[in-house]
Amino acid sequence: MAVEFPPRPTWADIDLNALLHNLRQAQRFFQPHQRALTVVKADAYGHGAVPVARCFQRAGVCDFAVATLEEAIELRDAGIDDALLVLGGCHPGQEKAFMAYNLMPALLDPQMALRLSAAAEQQGCRIPAHLKIDSGMGRVGFLPNLLRDFLPQLQQLKGLEIVGLMSHLACADELDSGVTLQQLERFRSVRQMLRDGGIVPRDIHISNSAGLSGWDVPEATLMRPGIMLYGGLPGPDFDDKLELRPVMHLRSCISQLRTLPKGSGVSYGHNFYTERDTRVAVLPIGYADGYNRLWSNRGQGILHGQKIPLIGRVCMDWIMFDVTDVPQAKVGDSITLLGFSEGLSILGDFWAEQLDTISYEVFCRIGSRVPRRYLGGPV
Ligand SMILES: *Cc1c(COP(=O)(O)O)cnc(C)c1O
Repeated sequence: MAVEFPPRPTWADIDLNALLHNLRQAQRFFQPHQRALTVVKADAYGHGAVPVARCFQRAGVCDFAVATLEEAIELRDAGIDDALLVLGGCHPGQEKAFMAYNLMPALLDPQMALRLSAAAEQQGCRIPAHLKIDSGMGRVGFLPNLLRDFLPQLQQLKGLEIVGLMSHLACADELDSGVTLQQLERFRSVRQMLRDGGIVPRDIHISNSAGLSGWDVPEATLMRPGIMLYGGLPGPDFDDKLELRPVMHLRSCISQLRTLPKGSGVSYGHNFYTERDTRVAVLPIGYADGYNRLWSNRGQGILHGQKIPLIGRVCMDWIMFDVTDVPQAKVGDSITLLGFSEGLSILGDFWAEQLDTISYEVFCRIGSRVPRRYLGGPV
């Protein structure tokens, strides 16, 4: 028997208007022939892949990228039938699923090409694929020399249709990087080599958020923005180039409010002692939700237009704030931990800087235990 109940008062508001604003910011850098291949991997960087993809669809986007087959199937099952690129490629045994769900793998190595082509030939069809070049990322994809040697075989593979040529930039967030120039040069010469071998992919793409807002690639037909769509800067140097809005706003409500006398220890390890009689607000959220334990004794929240300090260690399911200076605080009041509230902000980029990581990780760590609440979006 289903019993109705309200959720624990911890959630993430996802502002779809901000998402669309950021998409338009990305598109400012596009040339007229270029389209967005919006990256919605890792559950759209924690924002919810299906609602985010639907929002982009209604804004006219019809090309999407995810990391894994499972992520692609989630979109297909939700009825999203646009072009869908699986950046992680096709692992052994997944070939039939790529055909069944009409997915395009990033083609990462000769073995993957042979496997996919054989599986497609068996079914009498061709799998569209994006040939990935390692132009200097040093991670995945065909190294140019390897591709040169493999080209005669690739030309013979009847089960594959090379519809895209792609690469990934390692240092595009450094605006004067020689690495990027070198990668672009290698990418261009691979493109020429393929042309000479009779392979002319319809789509060409190499730019992530940093690339598309920092480097011109006129031959590209697709741009692959990720982080900037979600309001994160691709790097510190982009602060004045991009006007982005945060999309995710993490909030939790005070569920216990108590006054601890001066000298009380708070949370595991007692590495915080109250220095005065202290009103402590306890929120039902913790590191199991992606609220990083490194915030222990140094996190902050926004309550009634004021910044308040986190005290004690972050627990798995609870955190504590000192709200002594917010006399109107009461049980049920919401505290913003990430995003905007009442003119104040705690940005993903601030989290990242404080915790020595990148905003990407901040967003995609906000876990599945935190329900997403969608606001705004196309009408
Ligand atoms: C994640 C990813 C992107 C998007 O990168 P951002 O830095 O988030 O814009 C683009 N291309 C590939 C291959 C990726 O893996």
